[in-house]
Amino acid sequence: MNIYRLAVLNDNYVFVLHDPETNTAAVVDPAIAEPVLAKLDELDAELVAIFNTHHHGDHIGGNSVLIKKFPKAIVYAGEKDRDRIPHQQVFLKGGDQVSFGGRTADVFFVPGHTYAHIAYYFAPADDQGGELFCGDTLFAGGCGRLFEGTPTEMLASMEQLRRLPDDTRVWCAHEYTLSNLKFALTVDQDNTALQERMITAQAMRQRGEATVPTTIGLEKRTNPFMRWDTAAIKRSAGLDIPDRVFARIRGQKDNFAG
Ligand code: ZN
Ligand code: FE
Repeated sequence: MNIYRLAVLNDNYVFVLHDPETNTAAVVDPAIAEPVLAKLDELDAELVAIFNTHHHGDHIGGNSVLIKKFPKAIVYAGEKDRDRIPHQQVFLKGGDQVSFGGRTADVFFVPGHTYAHIAYYFAPADDQGGELFCGDTLFAGGCGRLFEGTPTEMLASMEQLRRLPDDTRVWCAHEYTLSNLKFALTVDQDNTALQERMITAQAMRQRGEATVPTTIGLEKRTNPFMRWDTAAIKRSAGLDIPDRVFARIRGQKDNFAG
């Protein structure tokens, strides 16, 4: 399975998965259809699946046009997103599995950003590593805003993702890394891995490179929303109870001018 990252709209990433053996493709969170169609054209591949993580417009905006062009493609999304996803055919819950290109993905229920949000985790297979598509849940250096969920729910979602192997590649749906790291440094000043990451990320952005994918290991070392139970973050929040620490830093991020 090859993964192509398409940068669209202001800061969205859409991911096209391609199986060269069957020349089929799947797309994760098509914000818009045109760049996906262009990529499919270039690959001369048939679209067989759309994997949506949640109902926001910048994740489903391309569904209808893609289904018009590829009527046999199946649209997958969370069961709680019923009626919010155009052309949804498969209603997934945590623990379900989907497959594409000879790989199997576990579905995680990860509410917080929305109440129905799911993520897709392709476990390592043969010589290929694990791949996580997590929409607006976990970001490089941050996490999604809590539009429909509580800090406690988001913490539980992050806890699920934190259990994945460190070398899992994390394909998040936005390029928010620099502003996330800027905030992270305000709550985790002495974290040298975070300081180094900021320097690396700034250089990458200056070269016009994407900072996505990241890895679970890097997030565990540098993302405050994966580090709510470390001494440094607890000290900075002035709190000790995990959900309260998480709520405090999420609230600080909401009000961070950046
Ligand atoms: Zn969203
Ligand atoms: Fe989004």
